This record gives sequence, structure tokens and C-alpha cells, in this order.
Amino acid sequence: FTSPFNEPKLTFDMIPDNISLFDFIFDPRYGRATARNPAFIDSSTGEERSLEETRVRTLHLAQGMFKVLGDGKFGEQKFIGTFYPNLLEVPAVTWATHRLGWTVTPANPAYTSAELAYQLKHSEAKALFTFSPMLETAVAAAKEVGIPEDQIFVLDQAPGFKSVQDLVDIGRKEKELPALNWSPGDGKTKMAFLSYSSGTTGLPKGVMVSHYNVIANTLQIVAFNGGFHKEKTTVLGLLPFYHIYGLVVILHAECYSGNTVVLVPKFELEPFVSTLVKYKIAKLFLVPPLVIRLVKDPYVRPEHLAHVKECFSGAAPLGPETQKALRDKVPGILFRQGYGMTETATVVVCSHETDQWDGSAGSSVQLQELKLVDPTSGKEVTEYDTPGELLVKGPQVTLGYYKNEKATAETFLEGGWIRTGDECVIRKSPQGFEHLFVVDRIKELIKVKGMQVAPAELEECLLAHPKVADAAVIGIPDERSGEVPKAYVVLHKNVPHTEETKRELAEWVQKQKARFKRLQGGIEFLEIIPKTASGKILRRELRERHKMHDLRA
Ligand code: AMP
Repeated sequence: FTSPFNEPKLTFDMIPDNISLFDFIFDPRYGRATARNPAFIDSSTGEERSLEETRVRTLHLAQGMFKVLGDGKFGEQKFIGTFYPNLLEVPAVTWATHRLGWTVTPANPAYTSAELAYQLKHSEAKALFTFSPMLETAVAAAKEVGIPEDQIFVLDQAPGFKSVQDLVDIGRKEKELPALNWSPGDGKTKMAFLSYSSGTTGLPKGVMVSHYNVIANTLQIVAFNGGFHKEKTTVLGLLPFYHIYGLVVILHAECYSGNTVVLVPKFELEPFVSTLVKYKIAKLFLVPPLVIRLVKDPYVRPEHLAHVKECFSGAAPLGPETQKALRDKVPGILFRQGYGMTETATVVVCSHETDQWDGSAGSSVQLQELKLVDPTSGKEVTEYDTPGELLVKGPQVTLGYYKNEKATAETFLEGGWIRTGDECVIRKSPQGFEHLFVVDRIKELIKVKGMQVAPAELEECLLAHPKVADAAVIGIPDERSGEVPKAYVVLHKNVPHTEETKRELAEWVQKQKARFKRLQGGIEFLEIIPKTASGKILRRELRERHKMHDLRA
């Protein structure tokens, strides 16, 4: 897999494997770029913080967290749940946790209390950091899993709860913490994040992301972008840091590159556009539905995007026609796609600035191997333009699924290869470089606005309804969200096949699941769900059925 660049050359010995992300980000000995000031701006308050201010606050916060949560045992493993949008305290909470050798398990702030409780319980989180508008949900989830209220902390202020500021004030009076003193290789096994993803099948699982994984991918991204030679710039921090894309590509790689990250906790078109203009944001990180919105919404005028030099899209497929439409709206813009997944601590391929190809997910970053494998025969596909499942082997491939050996063995293969569950082809560009095109998804995952929806989770929810005998959920194309979930339901005998029943089931899901998981693709009743002899749902058949249905409509 040839890449359109060779320099700067990255080697394995350039990836430190004995340090935490705290050291990697703050200690200049690990090669970070000189930070532009400020490092972070919170667009919701206008507050700014330099990297040095962030470092000092992180250290005090770590000391405060240790005093309140540490039981006096330094360096012992602990999971800290986080449930908040992108705000100014997020970098400090993240890296303070790492300074202690603990693990962050980040949850989507759109979750219901039951969804949050599932993650907190599975990860055995000891404490939870949240934001006052989400406090009610956080408290309910914490109660369900036995996290006491005095171990819930807010990023802002809320009566009766300790804030990050309170912890910083406590920590400031404490003595300096000892160094973590990890041995070579420790960074490869110690978890920085436990990020939830459903992988190729089933319910969401905890992906064990090591410090080394994030350091490796940050360096792979920086090297792919040609190193630190570029002028420092202002980048958009809208994509959520609970998801691996925002977490690694923006929070870590952009901060390490010395750029200013403008934190945007929520997407609303008009304030979003004002933020772009106000801070002269030059580099956008988006997901396909947001790119489409920028292109198509007449509210967004070319002058709003006048400062934008680069636009990245990832986390879901984006068609070549949108890339072209964006260039028509903003002439001269550099459009780049990236492809990766939680299980690969993000980036696997990315489009290079010197070799654009609309529709391509990009070319390989350094220090990894990629191959395509025929999913039925298991044979490697060696020809161009021939589809196969993508397998990846590299330093960013994560450690596996937490407390789930079976799922780990199915996805993380012998020899360090990981199955992506994506059907891809490789094509050669006129310049002679290899590009990856994602042509289909073999795995069960649905991507709504770039966010994961596991069909198994919605099926489990529907099956718990007393009127439902069987259920299958698939993703169907949607202009606004990329994909939305559609349910096929078999009802128990004598339950009427009516619009009323559909409404009842849709509301049932809506009550228990986050908004983006709603059955926006509708519900269709069937007599039987098509399955293989071993009971596996034939989703391709349902997708075909939906297509036919759509054509008839
Ligand atoms: P996640 O773990 O949430 O990042 O989801 C990873 C999955 O999102 C991948 O396995 C793909 O199915 C999909 N994905 C990510 N980036 C792209 C892309 N550029 N084009 C197509 N699909 C993508």
C-alpha cells in the first residue's frame, strides 16, 4: 500500500511506550510542537487557556482527584466516567486522569440514564464528571450503579456537588504527586480510554485504548501531514471528545501540533457559523451530514467560510458529489477524508494534500500494514478494484474488548491484525499512489450523523416490548443523517398491525434510548424475520427489501 509521501519518516522507536498521555502532551521532550496561544478557546463562554495554564490546572486537578478518590494508593487502576460536551475543563479532566495512571471512559452526553448506567456498570467506573445540564441524567445513572453523589463532579457549578474548581482548590494545597515511573512497554498495556463501540456485531463493548495507541496515531497523523512545518492555525473542536475521532484527531493530534482548538459544545447552525467567522477558524473537522449542511443550507454563505482552508470529513461515507459541491462553494478549499474506527484508535487512511481523489477515504498512514480479504474464502485480495474486507495491523490497533474475550477473538486476529467489518477496494491514482475506497459495510453498525447505533441494542429494546415476538433493525440511507434505523417487527398473535401499534413501539424505543437512536426509518411488520439456519439475521435481505419498497414508493 503505497503512500503519497515518505517524509518525515516515522519509525517505531520514535513512539514512546513508557509514558502517559499527560507526559506526551505537556512534556516538550516528547517532540510536541511549540503551542500557539491560546491552546483552547471555549466558544460558549469566550474563555481561553494557554497550554501552560492547562498543564498547571491539570496537575492541581490530579492532586485534588487523588486526595478525594485515590484511597492513598498511587498508580492503581481506576475508571473515571465522563458525560459532558466539549468544554474548557475537558482537557484538564482527561489528562489529570492520565497523570494518575487512571482510565477515562467517555460517554455520549445525549445518552439516557439507562444507556449511561450500562457503560458505567460495565466499566466499573468509580466516579463521574458531568455538566450541570446533564446532572439529572448523571445522578440517575450513578444511583443505578452505586456511584455515591459525592463522587459526581461538575465541570461548572451545581448546588450540592463538587466542581472541578473545588477539586483544583483542594489539589493546590496538596503536595506534588510522584512520577508514574512506567517501565518500557507499560504504555502499550495501560488503558488511557475505555471507549464504547459495537464493533462488527452485538451490543456496545468497551474498547481498550492504550496510551501508546493514541501516541502512535497522533504521530502517524502529524507525520502524514508533513510534520510540524506548517503555520500554526485555529481548528474547530466541534466533534465530540467522547468519540475516538474528536478525541484523538482533535484533542490530541491538534493540541500536540500546537494549534488553537475552539471548543464548540453543541451544533446549532447560526451560532456555529458566527463562531467560524469570529475565531477565523481555518481547519474544520466534520462528519458527512455536517459537510452536506454547510454545502446545501442557503444560510451558509461562501463569505462565512472565507477563513476555512481545510475541511476534513470522517466517521461515515461521503460521496464525491458533496466534495465537489463544497469546492464550488468555497473555491480553493482543501478537502480531505479520513477513515478509521474506535478499534484502531482512529486514523487508518487519510487523503493527502498533494493527491486528492474525490470519494477516496485516503491513503495509508505510516507504520501499518493493510490488506483486503475475501470475506467468504478468507483469501487475500491482491488485485486493484476488487472488494474485500479491510484488515489493519499497526501500532494504533487497540488492545481488544474489555472483559469480552469472545468478541475480542472474533475481531482482533492472530498476528496483530484487526477486522474492520468494512468492504473496501484499493485503486491507484494517476499519480501512482494507492487509495482506499469504502464500498460497503459488512458489519451490523448503523451510523447516524457519524454516531454509532448498534442494531442489536435496538432489537433487544424492541424484544422487551410485550407485543413483539421478533425484531431486526437495519440502517437505511437518509439525506440529513447519512443513515437512520429502520425496524422490522414480528408481532405476537392477535396484536393488530396498525399505525397505532407502530407509534407505541416507536415511543417505547424513544423513551429508553438517546434521540439519535430513534426509529426514524420507520417500522414495518413482517410475518417472519429472514435468518440463516444458525439464527443470524439476514440483514442484506432486509436492506434489499427496503430498496424495493423504496422504489415502489
Ligand atoms: P467508529 O468506531 O464509531 O469510529 O466507527 C467506525 C466505522 O465508521 C468504520 O468501520 C466505518 O464503517 C465507518 N467509517 C469511518 N470513516 C469512514 C469513511 N471515511 N468512509 C466510510 N465509512 C467510514
